[in-house]
Amino acid sequence: MVEKILANLEKSNCATDTTFIQAVSEVLHSLEPIVNSDPRYDTYAILERLVTPDRVIQFKVQWVDDSNRVHVNNGYRIQFNNSLGPYKGGLRFHPSVSIGVLKFLAFEQIFKNSLTGLPIGGAKGGSDFDPKGKSDFEIMKFCRAFMRELHPYIGARIDVPAGDIGVGAREIGYLFGEYKHITRNYDGVLSGKPYAFGGSLMRPQATGFGVVYFAREMLKEELQESLEGKICTVSGAGNVAIHTIEKLQQFGAIVITCSDSEGTIYDSRGIDLQLLKSLKDEGKRLSLENYKAAIPSAVYTKKADYPNGGHSVWSFPCFAAFPCATQNELNESDAKKLIENGCVAVVEGANMPTETNAIELLQREGVLFSPGKASNAGGVAVSEFEMSQNASMEKWDFDKVDRKLDELMRQIYKRVALTAKEYGRERNFVDGANIAAFKRVAEAMILEGV
Ligand code: NDP
Repeated sequence: MVEKILANLEKSNCATDTTFIQAVSEVLHSLEPIVNSDPRYDTYAILERLVTPDRVIQFKVQWVDDSNRVHVNNGYRIQFNNSLGPYKGGLRFHPSVSIGVLKFLAFEQIFKNSLTGLPIGGAKGGSDFDPKGKSDFEIMKFCRAFMRELHPYIGARIDVPAGDIGVGAREIGYLFGEYKHITRNYDGVLSGKPYAFGGSLMRPQATGFGVVYFAREMLKEELQESLEGKICTVSGAGNVAIHTIEKLQQFGAIVITCSDSEGTIYDSRGIDLQLLKSLKDEGKRLSLENYKAAIPSAVYTKKADYPNGGHSVWSFPCFAAFPCATQNELNESDAKKLIENGCVAVVEGANMPTETNAIELLQREGVLFSPGKASNAGGVAVSEFEMSQNASMEKWDFDKVDRKLDELMRQIYKRVALTAKEYGRERNFVDGANIAAFKRVAEAMILEGV
């Protein structure tokens, strides 16, 4: 049944939707042990319905730059599945954004949101707009133009977008400002808002901190190990990477790498987080060459100078690796290097950063592997906490959000590990995550009828 659905999907989707097919294929193969366990899955065509988005919204975004030149970009929102609650998922502004990439992200989001146990469905959106090199006013004008087109489709009980690559609190602030301007409605229609008008404390830190809470739990339960004093490698230099590094350092780990789309920094003394934040935090996108200029003992490798299309981050010996930049950034040859160098765990902070054959190799060799839909779910969970605070007009303090996040990541780890065990896939956290998430969504889809 799985192969038939995949063949149909390949026929009905563009050849360029490779990441979407990759994500669906991984999930459906994980589900093989249970698709025949309940006849209702077939009766209600659950798999066929699950791999088809509810709707794909595409619009034109027209905006004017600082020298009065007119630009046109594509805008999208993929509302994939709202069986568990309002559509929820980030907006990505990056030139690589296409319907295929957003379908993969929205599909993954259904499972991630289900794993949190919270009442949220799956969606994703964004634009092929490139924020790099744009002035603050240009970012504002683009965000306003984007929201002019998006606003009819979203709502606090309908679809609540958040941030992702290229979209942080600044962009969410401008998007919310325009939404309010058009609708005169102060609903919590976006999450990741600045704290000054309805944002939750800890939302910027949530994804990265959650990744490390998950890693701590997995290492403790599976290997009776901690992160204290351990060498870790992290890729990326954006929101997720920075806060993953921050929490790893708080737990006593020594993080020796970070990277961006141009290159990698290796700093054997441990990454200087303040310096990194001064280059990259809050929408700043200065090159990591500036890190090398400030700390000459650090090593900077340009991406273009690294052989085999691999990523130099994964060539450094480490105890645990945290891919936190983007999809398919860790390939099979990277996985081989990690194994040779004695890495015991790969914990995904980004969405699908590890290629399928790399995952299979890591798992075969006994490396603990956690998929992003489990380990990076802290971001969307705190987004849901923001929706709760907005709905009840409450403000939770930092410690309360942090405690709830920590507890939620523990629960996700337990749910994933126990499900893997129950289905004879012990320590296969990919299968554990996919099966646990699927069962909750499938039940809701059956109960709501067709
Ligand atoms: P940011 O835009 O803040 O940072 C992204 C980082 O990745 C930047 O350092 C960027 O470099 C780098 N990067 C982007 N594209 C590439 C590429 N093709 N090759 C190498 N490096 C690249 O995004 P986030 O940190 O928010 O998101 C990172 C990942 O985490 C994404 O997969 C996202 O979907 C996922 N995620 C994010 C969540 C969140 O709360 N923000 C929640 C859950 C998942 P440069 O600065 O040069 O562009």
